[in-house]
Amino acid sequence: MRLSQFFLPTLKETPSEAQIASHRLMLRAGMVRQLTAGIYSWLPLGHRVLKKIEQIVREEQDKIGFNELLMPTIQPAELWQESGRYDDYGLEMLRITDRHDRKMLFGPTNEEAITDIFRKDVRSYKQLPQLLYHIQWKFRDEIRPRFGVMRGREFYMKDAYSFDIDYESARHTYNKIFLAYCRTFTRLGVKAIPMVADTGPIGGDLSHEFIILADTGESEVFCDKKWLDKDLTGKGVDLNDRTGLENWVQGTLEDYAATEEMHDASNEAVTALGDDLVTTRGIEVGHIFHFGTKYSEPMGATVLGPDGAEVPVQMGSYGIGVSRLVGALIEASHDENGIIWPESVAPYKVGLINLRTGDDECDAACEDAYAKLTNAGIEVLYDDRDIRAGGKFADMDLIGLPWQIVIGPKGLKNGVVELKNRKSGEKTEVTFEAALNQLS
Ligand code: ATP
Ligand code: MG
Ligand code: MG
Ligand code: MG
Repeated sequence: MRLSQFFLPTLKETPSEAQIASHRLMLRAGMVRQLTAGIYSWLPLGHRVLKKIEQIVREEQDKIGFNELLMPTIQPAELWQESGRYDDYGLEMLRITDRHDRKMLFGPTNEEAITDIFRKDVRSYKQLPQLLYHIQWKFRDEIRPRFGVMRGREFYMKDAYSFDIDYESARHTYNKIFLAYCRTFTRLGVKAIPMVADTGPIGGDLSHEFIILADTGESEVFCDKKWLDKDLTGKGVDLNDRTGLENWVQGTLEDYAATEEMHDASNEAVTALGDDLVTTRGIEVGHIFHFGTKYSEPMGATVLGPDGAEVPVQMGSYGIGVSRLVGALIEASHDENGIIWPESVAPYKVGLINLRTGDDECDAACEDAYAKLTNAGIEVLYDDRDIRAGGKFADMDLIGLPWQIVIGPKGLKNGVVELKNRKSGEKTEVTFEAALNQLS
């Protein structure tokens, strides 16, 4: 992509409404624009990152055997009256009336809708488990939308739902999701720590929030410092080995980690930690939950069991805040000059800077480099604009592409370009071919 043809409205000034780094940087880097409170348009640069995160989330769901589908954003009130949540959900639910005076709502989540799909077509335990997910816009009328896309009203979520015949198989499904989440966040280049979460009135021990540590997080969190360099890739874990997977999950959860609501300072595990207890703040980027028959019972989602009796299915739901993650990744990785994208989600891998647009030699060398990078399958954003070099450097650092190749008249005389690593700041003078080799 040529920057002269790309819609990238960067800002020099820091927008006054933005209180935290990720919000400031997303506005300054031209990634999003607010339409109205908590509702954002995703401009081309932001959209590319959103889609990359979505794709990694999707691949890890697919790998554990979940099926993607797409449910509507607008739902009928009756479904939520059946589960009993229409009144309970409160003001966060955006309620709408259609022209026939029917009560509708913009889905804040989809347990009811998926349960309805399930109950209409699944009859027998032989069809279980059913593992489904979608990636869709949600709306919650948050009392205080803030921090940009981190607490929006309209936001993009992956939510998965599972239907199992009994608790043991539901727990196996839960463990698969747990592993998939650990792998997803690792691929996104960030440490998200699973912390035991409150399961509310349903009880049980099967709910975890995945939390990225950041000073600007909304909740206080506590964890053993061992978490900071724990490997969460689950190498060699066999998904179909129930016991092996359960042992891996339990082993991973051995070290203490808790959110404010669940933290117990007098707990033996906590007092034993002493100085090894990290007290900081965190951002909830995922939440997994086993809730048994909470929806299947009132909504009649039953199957015929092996003994011929009707049983309500065991359900769970599992969310990832895809749009929140864009902000959370920036909170976890930026410096005073801008964003520093992990390679896996960077909008482009390389920024190509022409130091003297209009100079025949520079233009020709850049065109050649642009073509070679593109042909090598490398995503490159070529700054071919006719502006001062200083502005090009500043914009390139701001938008945080992992690599920069700088081509100017002085280097060309010596047959070299400058290759800069955005994260380390390290700059080397190499031939263009060497740079291409290194990036391929
Ligand atoms: P929070 O505690 O931040 O309000 P939640 O517990 O209400 O989140 P869940 O119902 O668990 O959220 O939804 C799953 C995921 O969706 C969350 O872990 C979070 O990443 C994301 N999410 C929830 N609310 C928002 C929001 N207002 N804006 C952006 N992402 C959100
Ligand atoms: Mg909430
Ligand atoms: Mg929460
Ligand atoms: Mg939650």
